[in-house]
Amino acid sequence: MANSSLICREGEILIDSHIHLHEYGNEVGKYCGNSCLRLIAVSDDLESSKRTIELGKKCWNVVSAVGIHPWSVSEGANKYLNQVLELATEARFIGEVGLDKKFVPQTYERQLTVFREFLRIASEHGKGVSVHAAGAWSDVLRELERHDIKVAIIHWYTGPTDLLSSIRSLGYYIGVNPAIKIQRKMREVVKAAPLETLLTESDGPYNYRGMNLGPELISETIRIIAELKGVSEADVTEAIKQNFKSIMKELGINLI
Ligand SMILES: [Zn+2]
Repeated sequence: MANSSLICREGEILIDSHIHLHEYGNEVGKYCGNSCLRLIAVSDDLESSKRTIELGKKCWNVVSAVGIHPWSVSEGANKYLNQVLELATEARFIGEVGLDKKFVPQTYERQLTVFREFLRIASEHGKGVSVHAAGAWSDVLRELERHDIKVAIIHWYTGPTDLLSSIRSLGYYIGVNPAIKIQRKMREVVKAAPLETLLTESDGPYNYRGMNLGPELISETIRIIAELKGVSEADVTEAIKQNFKSIMKELGINLI
């Protein structure tokens, strides 16, 4: 039985809109079926997509997302793109997909081809998309808009604050990562972004500058958001829950 007290206060529901749950191995039980958490579990490639679909079936509080991470594109585009696209038509969500000009600019053309394939599926089948956009913030928005994507979460958004109004008017959301504790850019974004566009995420189990990212840090993330915006933690928790609820409603997923 999952011990929720380490993650949430009594009666609270926290949202992790971007977690690599398939990487947790035996520790998955901490989060799977944990009544205080709702998770969107993303994938990186074919194997993790299959594993994540299984987790989605097993864990009632998990929405599984399948995709090919821009860092995995060079391999995946050749070997298993079509298989993952097929899984994407069946999955409830698509991700982690996107574009990355910061860490892997050398594969940008291939990333664009793969990202567009997933957006086509998302658009045709009405799926939500969890998007990686490092260094390619405006490119990603252009593609989402062009493909008429209705539900998109730009994960760990540390892009320019002047794109926030477009993100809002397109009805998209941004993921606030626990890195906010030490990442100045994340704090600037949160100060500038309306609460109506925010979701929390962990990107766990990634290690960011010595921080072990995971759902345990979501409470702390909410505390920092509240402080930066001068509102109560309860208001932030509620706003994020409502944002998540709208996404689920739009996609016809009964989860919250
Ligand atoms: Zn990720």
